[in-house]
Amino acid sequence: MTDTKSGGRLSPLELMTKLISFPTVSRDTNLPLVDWVEDYLGSHGITAHRWPDPDQPHKAALFAHVGPEVEGAIVLSGHTDVVPVDGQPWDTDPWTVVEKDGRYYGRGTCDMKGYDALAIWALVEAHYAGVKRPLQLALSFDEEVGCTGAPPMIEAMQGVILKGASVIVGEPSNMKAVTGHKGGQGIYTHVVGFEVHSSIMHTGVSAILEAAKLISFATEKNAVNFAAEPTALGAMFDPPCTTWHVGMIEGGTAHNITAKDCKFAMDFRAVPGDDPDALVADYVARVREVEAGMQAVHPDTRIDLNIRFAVPPLRPEDGGEAEGIARAITGDNAGHVVSYGTEAGQFQAAGYSAVVCGPGDIAQAHQPNEFIEIAQFEAGHQFMRDLVARLM
Ligand SMILES: [Zn+2]
Repeated sequence: MTDTKSGGRLSPLELMTKLISFPTVSRDTNLPLVDWVEDYLGSHGITAHRWPDPDQPHKAALFAHVGPEVEGAIVLSGHTDVVPVDGQPWDTDPWTVVEKDGRYYGRGTCDMKGYDALAIWALVEAHYAGVKRPLQLALSFDEEVGCTGAPPMIEAMQGVILKGASVIVGEPSNMKAVTGHKGGQGIYTHVVGFEVHSSIMHTGVSAILEAAKLISFATEKNAVNFAAEPTALGAMFDPPCTTWHVGMIEGGTAHNITAKDCKFAMDFRAVPGDDPDALVADYVARVREVEAGMQAVHPDTRIDLNIRFAVPPLRPEDGGEAEGIARAITGDNAGHVVSYGTEAGQFQAAGYSAVVCGPGDIAQAHQPNEFIEIAQFEAGHQFMRDLVARLM
């Protein structure tokens, strides 16, 4: 590999290989990766800025600007974290890029260090090419745990570098221009009941039975939503409506004790057009109703709520620039939406035009033996060449 200290330019594959060698699972540090990217960009005369998370000193976001010092940059956005490999049957070392059968294997090849590598490559190219319109790089963390790293990074960017106009979020979309996705919110719910022997359960409060009332809320909402006529924006998705889900639950200590605690993870995925704040308010109203009933039986009971993540939907824009750029370069003019959340909705909420367009197939993300088709990686490379040419 080229010695970066001497200012050598690495190829996209060399960059991806380097990025994947850092095991940046969301729970762990991403600082070695951030240090390396900062050094690499610095070796090319590009100043990178980091946003260290004050609550998690082992994590930081990184962003950089090249080209003229004006507003209106195109922003290439990716996340540095990857999902764990624990318990997954990998045939090769997940932290080493292995080429086999027209594919590059490795954790993050698809989601999404392949794109991160292409974005870093494009930034260096744009810097040397002397582009007339600026290009920016934004690398976040904690995307895989609910897109919690991007919002503070986006805010920090606006105070440090000139505001960009359009963002291309390179989540794997097979290089299609994805213009809409659902939003999501996770509300960790802890029901605190009052323990008595179950033979006199009317004097206690079972956290499990009370939690069940709230879990029924999800079932009732789903029934209503699935029965309703989809909205125009909703009809683009499968399923065409906002959905509620409980993915985890725990509670109780014995069959004959009214449970003191029950904790569960209530999530929803909202179609664009359904206001996530209103959905949360709806759930909170039901929670307070159930809580009032509990406290009428025993005052030492309550329900605690903790918002774990909040990802705004990506709303298709009317003539949005980001979409226009992605379509012009890829030649893809069809409409695409996805049901998973990305940081694109967060950029859009902060006033950027945003589109999701990146190499690889989401079906390979998070899997053991994650890979990206070499043809997809090459298509991503061509996209970046064309993008840099458009900035000239
Ligand atoms: Zn991703």
